[in-house]
Amino acid sequence: MFLYITQGSSYLVPRAYAIMHRMHHAYSDTEKDPHSPHFFKEVFTMMWHTKKIYQGLLNNTFKVDEKFDKNFPVNETIDRIGDSWISRIVWGTGYVLFYINFATHWWMYLLLPIHFLMGPVHGAIVNWAGHKYGYRNHPEKDQSKNTLPIDFVAGGELFQNNHHKYGSRPNFANKWWEIDPTYPVIKVLDAVGIIKLVRAT
Ligand SMILES: [Zn+2]
Repeated sequence: MFLYITQGSSYLVPRAYAIMHRMHHAYSDTEKDPHSPHFFKEVFTMMWHTKKIYQGLLNNTFKVDEKFDKNFPVNETIDRIGDSWISRIVWGTGYVLFYINFATHWWMYLLLPIHFLMGPVHGAIVNWAGHKYGYRNHPEKDQSKNTLPIDFVAGGELFQNNHHKYGSRPNFANKWWEIDPTYPVIKVLDAVGIIKLVRAT
């Protein structure tokens, strides 16, 4: 439920997301990677390819290696509601109403499309930039990069090189001068019992 509220109009079914993310780690920057920027000329075709795999997972038309297809939360009711157009439109209407109440300048409405599509926008930035632009701390076999030393754009997910080296660490920052702004949020969610951290560092 918390996932549904926070993702809103961009709700992703956890099973499909988990499988795609596991494939991304297992096959990073090879042809089996669901979103490697090194196989596409620009970001839109890459994201369209990712969307096709996501839809294939939902419709069970995409063949999945069974080692990826387990250990994720399933809530069929929330998945059905979250993935429906009605739900996405209701959330979108909510965002518009929020702007009508709180926006102080007309140009702020230009930000609305980013809110409607915040999941795909975030995914496009992370998947494209995170495997293309930046520096590396670890000589991984893939093309993963750390794009920003303080990741204020994607909440820490642009530390792709660190994340590929230490996939199970909740803190994506490795060096003392790197800051993953989502890590303190994860610690708070763990402290209040909304999530349970399996490992702390
Ligand atoms: Zn990656």
